[in-house]
Order: sequence, then C-alpha cells, then structure tokens
Amino acid sequence: RKICRGKEVSPKYTKDICKRKSVVSKELNKGSKRLSCFVKPPDMQTKRGKFAEAPRPNQKFYEMIQDFRETLEINPLSTNEHLEPHRICVCVRKRPLNKQENNRKEIDVVSVPGKGTLLVHEPKQKVDLTKYLENQTFHFDYSFNETATNDLVYKFTAKPLVHSIFEGGMATCFAYGQTGSGKTHTMGGDFTGRQQNSAKGIYALAAQDVFTYLSHRRYANLDLSAYVSFFEIYNGKVYDLLNKKAKLRVLEDDRQQVQVVGLEEVYVSSAEEVIKMIQQGSACRTSGQTSANANSSRSHAILQIALRRNDRATTLHGKFSLIDLAGNERGTDVSSNDRSTLVETAEINRSLLALKECIRSLGMNSDHIPFRMSTLTKVLRDSFVGEKSKTCMIAMVSPGMTSCEYTMNTLRYADRYIFILWSSFLKS
Ligand code: ADP
Ligand code: MG
Repeated sequence: RKICRGKEVSPKYTKDICKRKSVVSKELNKGSKRLSCFVKPPDMQTKRGKFAEAPRPNQKFYEMIQDFRETLEINPLSTNEHLEPHRICVCVRKRPLNKQENNRKEIDVVSVPGKGTLLVHEPKQKVDLTKYLENQTFHFDYSFNETATNDLVYKFTAKPLVHSIFEGGMATCFAYGQTGSGKTHTMGGDFTGRQQNSAKGIYALAAQDVFTYLSHRRYANLDLSAYVSFFEIYNGKVYDLLNKKAKLRVLEDDRQQVQVVGLEEVYVSSAEEVIKMIQQGSACRTSGQTSANANSSRSHAILQIALRRNDRATTLHGKFSLIDLAGNERGTDVSSNDRSTLVETAEINRSLLALKECIRSLGMNSDHIPFRMSTLTKVLRDSFVGEKSKTCMIAMVSPGMTSCEYTMNTLRYADRYIFILWSSFLKS
C-alpha cells in the first residue's frame, strides 16, 4: 500500500493518478508562470521596445556599444572653441538619460565624440538572431553631449544671432525634436520638479545679452528699445500667451507683409522683466491642460524680441524669434486615433515640412520662399527674407534605445539641411 496526497491508495492507482495529477499541476504551474510573464511585460514592452523584454539581449548591445566607444577619440566642445559665423547653423544636443530611463536600465545609444559629430549605435538583429550594431554618423556645425549646459549651447547657437539683430538683421532659432528630448529645457529653462528656472534657458540668456548690447557704446547712438511678444501656434491658430491666450488672426497685405493682428508687444527695460514674461507665458501655455506636457508638446511657442528705433514710427531695426517647436513624432505613433489628434498631427507635420522648405530657400538665397504653406512659416516670413536673415536649428535627441527611431528621424531632418547647404554651395 502506498500513500498519495495523505491518503492510502493501491499501488496501481497511485501510479496513474498521482502521475496524471502531477502532470496537470505542472502544466498549471507552467500556465501560471506564463500568465505572470504575460501580465507584466506588455507594460514594459510598450515602454522598452522589442529588444527590452529580457535584460540579456540588451546587456549584449550595451557591451557592444561600450566596446565601440572605447575606440572613439573624444574631443568634446569647450567654451574656448573658436566660433565660426554661419548664416544657417545646424546643431544637435543630446540630453542625459533621465531617472525613469536609468531605473529601466535603458541603454544609451548615442555618442558625441567631437565638435560636430554624433553617432547613433542602432541595435539590430539578423534573421539568425545574431545581434549587431548599425553605427551611423551624422555631421553638424556643433554637437553637444549630455554634459553640455544651456550656457554652452547658447554660446554657439543663439548668442551670435543676438549680435546680428543689432546689426539690423532678422534671426530665428528653433528647438526641434521629439517630445521629451529637451526642447523646452533648452529654450525655456531648467525644470526642477514642477518649477521652471526660466533664467537658465536660451530665451533668458538672449534677453540678457540684448540688454548688454543696448547699453554698449557701439549701439547707443542707434537709440533702440526692446519689445517682447510671446505666442503659441496650435492647430494653425495663433494664441497670445501674454494676453490670456487670446485667439489672433494672421493677415497678409498686398506687399506680402504678414501681421498677427492685435498681438501684444510689450516694451521691456530689463532682462528680469523678460524672464517674468517668459514665466507668465509658459504658465499660460500649459494652464487648463490635464497633463502639463500633453498639449504644449503639440504646439509651437514663439518668443520674439524686437529692436525698434525710438522714433515716432518705432521703426523695426532687427528681430529675434526663438521657437520651441511642437514634438516631431509621427502621426502613426500617436496612441489616440480620434479626429482632433489626427488633424493636430497633420498640421504639425505640415508646418515642420514648410519650415524645412523655407530654411532651404533661405540657404539657397532663393527669391521664392514657400511661407504660405503653414501658419508657422507665415508669421516668420519677414525672418526668412533679406540678406541679413540668419537661422539656427538645434535638433534635440533623447539618448535611449527606445527613442532610437525618433532620434534617427530628427537627425535625418536636420542632416538634410547640411546636405542642401553643401549642394547650394557647389552650385554657386
Ligand atoms: P520637450 O520640451 O522636448 O518635450 P523637455 O524640455 O520638457 O522636453 O524635457 C523633458 C525632460 O527632460 C524634462 O524633465 C527636462 O528637465 C529633462 N531634460 C531635458 N534636457 C535635459 C538636459 N540637457 N539635462 C538635464 N535634463 C534635461
Ligand atoms: Mg516642451
């Protein structure tokens, strides 16, 4: 006689039933394991991408990237670097991995070895499951690594443009990239917790320099004053951030001059005043939204600093437009399928395409600027025409492996500028 599960049973019975039960319970155990595997990962899968379910494969990629990095000669950009003046300057900035990405042990797939170079180590897998890296190199006027401060970025991007508006020019500086890549951090300032330190952003740094130049002996006899406006373009409509988000109309006269009717343009006498307005406008930008980043990431924010002569007509001398662009992620990546989101995405794609075309025309000194393609390019029309127009594009990239595809899109958009520039140089 044998004992099975605490009961006395015949040997034959024991053999059959106990075995069968154990098989079933094994299956059940397997099932529950499978179930627990199934419950946890989808959440991780969506966040971490297809290579991220198990730590091992990523570990392999991590090691491959580390090995590759050891072969790189690193010469990061320093403050003392010689600054070359450009009519069109295209730069790239890589932000550091954030806390959540570090907690997820996300891999950093972007390297910035030198002054204008950036590398993406794209993790790939062959059909036979062999892992390999596709290392792609991109060249820019300047590339900033994750340790670069806003001050350093400012020095090589927007600072030369402040000088150019005092020389009577029109300037634009764009922050381009996917949502979360650091556009607002760069332009508007550092966020620590929920507080935005606007004094550390390119907006404020530019404003400070404007007042430094205004008191400069060289420009004093021009008798200039500074004026600020701050507005947002959402779904092709303009909203005044300095006037409770009042909706404004964009009109074009028969001389192709574009006007934003009723836009507040406030006289400012110090950088502190401008910083206050940036804070006020940024708060206005995100207020009324359920998630602070949700809507602001779908709109372009434009801060303009105009220099006007103190004559009766307050003649425009120069203007600097600093633009925190809407996130460039593609329509297919938008989780919601509702109509308003699709319209929103189509509008963003259209304006970013229009922007590219306008900068391209600027680079080729073309008479035809396709500014009517979007509201964004319409309101910036006067900055794309004329000998003295200058622009700077800062492409922002997130370093994580799950952002790889977005990063490549951003770099391709920005890289093509350089290509266009070269081709225009070759032609002339
Ligand atoms: P975007 O405006 O492109 O959507 P944000 O500027 O809001 O992105 O940046 C997303 C997050 O990453 C913010 O919490 C921001 O503080 C942080 N961040 C961005 N760039 C940097 C950087 N260079 N250094 C440190 N933190 C950064
Ligand atoms: Mg933002």
